[in-house]
Amino acid sequence: MTSVNDIRSSFLNYFSREGHEAVPSSPLVPRNDPTLMFTNAGMVQFKNVFTGVEKRPYSTATTAQKCVRAGGKHNDLDNVGFTARHHTFFEMLGNFSFGDYFKERAIELAWNLLTKEWELPRERLSVTIYQDDDEAHALWKKVAGLSDDKIVRLGAKSNFWQMGDTGPCGPCSEIFYDHGDHVWGGPPGSPDEDGDRFIEIWNLVFMQYEQQNDGTRLGLPRPSIDTGMGLERIAAVMQGVHNNYDIDLFKALIAAAAQATGTQPDGDGKTSQRVIADHLRSMSFLIAEGVLPSNEGRGYVLRRIMRRAMRHATLLGSNEPAIFKMVPTLVREMGQAYPELVRGEAMIEETIRLEEHRFLKTLGRGLQILSDETKDMGEGAVLDGATAFKLYDTYGFPLDLTEDALRTRGITVDQAGFSTAMEAQKAEARKSWAGSGESADDKVWFAVADKVGPTEFLGYETENAEGQV
Ligand code: ATP
Ligand code: MG
Ligand code: MG
Ligand code: MG
Repeated sequence: MTSVNDIRSSFLNYFSREGHEAVPSSPLVPRNDPTLMFTNAGMVQFKNVFTGVEKRPYSTATTAQKCVRAGGKHNDLDNVGFTARHHTFFEMLGNFSFGDYFKERAIELAWNLLTKEWELPRERLSVTIYQDDDEAHALWKKVAGLSDDKIVRLGAKSNFWQMGDTGPCGPCSEIFYDHGDHVWGGPPGSPDEDGDRFIEIWNLVFMQYEQQNDGTRLGLPRPSIDTGMGLERIAAVMQGVHNNYDIDLFKALIAAAAQATGTQPDGDGKTSQRVIADHLRSMSFLIAEGVLPSNEGRGYVLRRIMRRAMRHATLLGSNEPAIFKMVPTLVREMGQAYPELVRGEAMIEETIRLEEHRFLKTLGRGLQILSDETKDMGEGAVLDGATAFKLYDTYGFPLDLTEDALRTRGITVDQAGFSTAMEAQKAEARKSWAGSGESADDKVWFAVADKVGPTEFLGYETENAEGQV
């Protein structure tokens, strides 16, 4: 069996042999990019290279990039445990051309790696292209010999990529793997494409235009290439399993989750074990970069991830700090590729243990309240915002944790009511504060309080835009 670690090396070696500079992963907390919560794609560290603002001593590169998609534009948090292919933390393998090769070479390199180097069965592969991209259509036929029915034309929503409102953009082409008809789902563009039978493994972005302020597009003088392939997804394919959570790396983490919570792998607690294994990676990599659980910004996203994992540990019957015990397994599995895990091991363990300790004090009581309040509710019911706010305010339940807890029962939370309760509390605080007469300090205090307000986290619940690498 080819391990995740072998596949990562094999990818980087292949592109190095093909003349690409192997560049280390950039941090999860993007440098000099306040617009982005966490690095969510391989191209992030090359943004300025693509626009020409920054020059590098190479014109092609390859990376294995740490990514987190648990907030902002890409938020896969709610997918974890429910799809075979989504993680909050994952590694994106990529090759990049900065005005060097373009579409034909990019397709050739990808196809050769998949079918020659890795010998994947050609008949299982199909691609999507942007509806107007006749060039890509012709190239997939020429280079890969794909028949027309294996080249699906889709619209801009899924197959046109833009860096922002202006700047580089272009059509993309996604490569899918067919896991077989024992798995539910249809090919992309079909009515049941939401299933997990056809899994997107690789996205090739052809940056060939520059979007102007006035809405027009100019051709880029030197078009570029940006690709991204999920390491865990390609590992599932190469290890002959359908679900990402069945690859070697996740098997080890899930075994550790089972051991830490005193349960059996593959038993009733499978979903919770998967969520814990997934969230352990996000929290550990973030803590290794110095992000700490807090009530705002990145720290709050981290706290949400940690507390969700903790609720799942509780579901598995664990009432003591447990997740921190899994850290050595993660370090063993991923420490060689990411030495920051080895360096940060003690700090990661201690941070997780402390947060578990802190939250476990109120978690049980909060879950009891949640269960009391919802005991007569059935599918389609809505939990009132005031209760959700009380759970947040008094018991430390992030809103999405409450939602996650009710999701399998088909119960949702009144988000507007939650915000109203939050606002009411703030107004109340302002009133009682007004008498103090220290208006200058008030301002500072409220500026801080507002930061922790509902917009701070409801803002992350935005749609997961597709087709972005
Ligand atoms: P999907 O449609 O499956 O959510 P995507 O179109 O959002 O994927 P891209 O933005 O194109 O993904 O990212 C490039 C590649 O990264 C994908 O083809 C996939 O292999 C991988 N990938 C994306 N999101 C995740 C995730 N949450 N977990 C694991 N791998 C991912
Ligand atoms: Mg996605
Ligand atoms: Mg994609
Ligand atoms: Mg997609």
